[in-house]
Amino acid sequence: MKKTDNPDNPQTKYYHRKYPQQHQPYPGLDSAMSPRPDCGEQTYIGAARLAGRRALITGGDSGIGRAVAIAYAREGADVALSYLPDEETDAQDTAKYIRDAGARAFLFPGDIGHEKFCTQLVKKAARAMGGLDIMVLNAGYQQFSDDIMDLTTAQLQRTFEINLFSMFWMVRAALPILQPGASIITTTSIQAYQPGKSLLDYAASKAAIMAFTRALAKQLADRGIRVNGVAPGPIWTALQVAGGRAQSTIPEFGMDTPMGRAGQPAELAATYVLLASDDASYTTAEIYGITGGNHTM
Ligand code: NAD
Ligand code: MG
Repeated sequence: MKKTDNPDNPQTKYYHRKYPQQHQPYPGLDSAMSPRPDCGEQTYIGAARLAGRRALITGGDSGIGRAVAIAYAREGADVALSYLPDEETDAQDTAKYIRDAGARAFLFPGDIGHEKFCTQLVKKAARAMGGLDIMVLNAGYQQFSDDIMDLTTAQLQRTFEINLFSMFWMVRAALPILQPGASIITTTSIQAYQPGKSLLDYAASKAAIMAFTRALAKQLADRGIRVNGVAPGPIWTALQVAGGRAQSTIPEFGMDTPMGRAGQPAELAATYVLLASDDASYTTAEIYGITGGNHTM
């Protein structure tokens, strides 16, 4: 059945055609993608749900992190962004949206695969914003590899340092700063539940994030700090075109979901807002799936 663009139908509300093949070197830029990911720039409407909060978002320059940054700013929060130096243009563009929303934006380029940088990042972000209420641990590294024999130890270590170890390092640095009411949100993946054969290291790291999120939530409940995760399905972002998957799989990316298309970052932002807000005061140790119908459990 040929699908027409009906904005009321979730199947066709966002881009639902084949994607053109395109490769970028890691980490890739949103600005160089075709079509450009929709991060809610023209659509997200805030309602002061995070007024006065201060949020640190890793990987906040592009994709899901950028959609969250724009939404948080429009909900009244100041936002600190972490990203790699190569992503400066994407980060500056996201910062402009944050400032246009009347919020403050602070930029911290650097590699979160190193403990020292993670510790400094949290301290500097909290100092710049005058405190820290929300941590969105969203940065991620995904490089596909079809054969375990080709998966180098260097890549294995890098995947776990960036995706998992950075979370331990940043939470340790943040705990002396976070107050009751604070919220930590991780980004895991449907790969934690339905691991693909070309993503052994990535899927394993995302499963580890899921366990980390749930265990940490139990540990921090006593401090009045909630910890939850989001598990996206296929979302159109730079991660996918910068080595995250084989080019041959780009055109039909996301079409194997019941919704019949990949998701856009804009479709995740409201869940990160909810998890950060007081409305979710009884929600902790949960992982919210946003998968276009392939579900997580
Ligand atoms: P993205 O490329 O736009 O964002 C990932 C970000 O991670 C980059 O912008 C970069 O700033 C950051 N990053 C990577 N390596 C880093 C390093 N060494 N130091 C500091 N920052 C680093 O892609 P995205 O899809 O929005 O990714 C956000 C999260 O969503 C990731 O954790 C990813 O694993 C997860 N995820 C994505 C999908 C998807 O289909 N796009 C699906 C499931 C989960
Ligand atoms: Mg980026």
